[in-house]
Amino acid sequence: MSSALSLDQLPVREELRGKSPYGAPQLDVSVRLNTNENPYSLPEPLVRRIAERVAEAARDLNRYPDRDAVELRTELARYLTRTGGHPVAFEQVWAANGSNEVLQQLLQAFGGPGRTALGFEPSYSMHSLIARGTNTGWVSGPRREDFTVDVEAARQAIATHRPDVVFITSPNNPTGTAVDRETVLALHEAAQAVKPTMVVVDEAYVEFSRGESLLPLLAGRPHLVISRTMSKAFGAAGLRLGYFAADPAVVDAVQLVRLPYHLSAVTQATALAALEHTDTLLGYVDRLKAERDRVVTALRALGLEVTDSDANFVQFGRFEDPGGQHAVWQRLLDHGVLVRDNGVPGWLRVSTGTPEENTAFLEAVREAAGPYLDMPRGLSAAPGEDRPNEKEQLS
Ligand SMILES: *Cc1c(COP(=O)(O)O)cnc(C)c1O
Repeated sequence: MSSALSLDQLPVREELRGKSPYGAPQLDVSVRLNTNENPYSLPEPLVRRIAERVAEAARDLNRYPDRDAVELRTELARYLTRTGGHPVAFEQVWAANGSNEVLQQLLQAFGGPGRTALGFEPSYSMHSLIARGTNTGWVSGPRREDFTVDVEAARQAIATHRPDVVFITSPNNPTGTAVDRETVLALHEAAQAVKPTMVVVDEAYVEFSRGESLLPLLAGRPHLVISRTMSKAFGAAGLRLGYFAADPAVVDAVQLVRLPYHLSAVTQATALAALEHTDTLLGYVDRLKAERDRVVTALRALGLEVTDSDANFVQFGRFEDPGGQHAVWQRLLDHGVLVRDNGVPGWLRVSTGTPEENTAFLEAVREAAGPYLDMPRGLSAAPGEDRPNEKEQLS
C-alpha cells in the first residue's frame, strides 16, 4: 500500500518542518570507520554469559522489568567508583536506552519551551537535535580556530544567552580533543553566576582519554551531570545503554519524565552481563588507543593536519573549502573506506578500527587526499591525478 502523502503535508510541529533526521550513512562497505563504534565483536565468553542472563530474564518477561533498574545502577556505580577516581553511589546514577535517551530526559526535565540549551560547536550533533525534539531553544557557543573552548568567549556567550542547560563534550566529538578540568570549572562557575544552570559533561569517549574523568568534580556541585555510554569503550553500541552520574536530586528529576519501564528486562540483563566482563572489554580500549596514536602519527607524516585526539577517532584535514572534504570522503568510499563528513568545513573524521582497517584507511588516504589538501606539505598526488581534471569531474 503506497501513500500519496509527503511528510510536509502532515501537520507536524512547526519547528520540525523541513528538517532532516540524524543520518550517519549505514553503507555496506568493507571498512566502516564512520560512527566511532568499537571494531571488535564481543568475546565468546561474554556472548555466552549474555545468553544465560537473557534466558533467566526471559522466564519473567510476563512481568514488567525493574522500573528503577537498581541492580544495574548499582553495578554502574561500582564501575564508576573503580575507574573514575571518585566514589559514586547508585542513587547518583541513572540509566536509559543509550546516552541519547539520557540526554533527552535531561532536556525534558531541565529544558523545554521557553528554555535554552547552549553547546560549543562543532560538537555532537545530537545535542542540538535533542534540543529541537524537546522544544528547547539552541545556542551555538564559540570555539577557537583550533577547536578548543575559549573560556572568555564562552563566559560572554553564557552571560548573553542565559542558558538553562550547558553541554560540554569531553573528549569532544568530532574534533577528539578533551576539555581540561579548569575550563569545565570556569564554565560551570560562569553558568551558575547567571542562574542555576545544569551543566552536562558528555564523557562518551572518556575511557579513551589520556586524562582523568571529571567525575570528582561532582562533589558539592548539584548542577553538574556527567553522561556516559556503553556504546563506545564497552563495544556495545547495539545494546543501547547510556547512563549519567549526578546529585541524587537530578535522578529524582529525570524520573518525572522517563517512561515507566523504559529499560527492558533484556537490556538490563545484557548490560549486567557486559559489566561482569569490564576488564576484558577495557583491554580493547588500550589496543584502540595505541592504534589511534599510530593513525595520528601516520596522517601527520603524510602532511595532513590532525586535531589532538583523546577519543577513538581522529579529525583530519585540511581540505579545500568548499567541496574538498566531500570529494575526499567520496574518494575514500570508492576505495571501500567509509569515514564521516560531519560538515566541519575542511575536515573529516575517522574512527579507530582494527589494525588492518586502519592500514587500509591510511593507504586509501594516501591515494585520495593529495589533490584536495588545503596546505600541501609534502604529500604528492597519486600518478595520473591531475588537480584541475579532478575538480572538473567532481563538480
Ligand atoms: C556516540 C556518542 C554518544 C553515544 O550515544 P548512545 O546513545 O549512548 O549510543 C553520546 N555522546 C557523544 C558525544 C557521542 O559521540
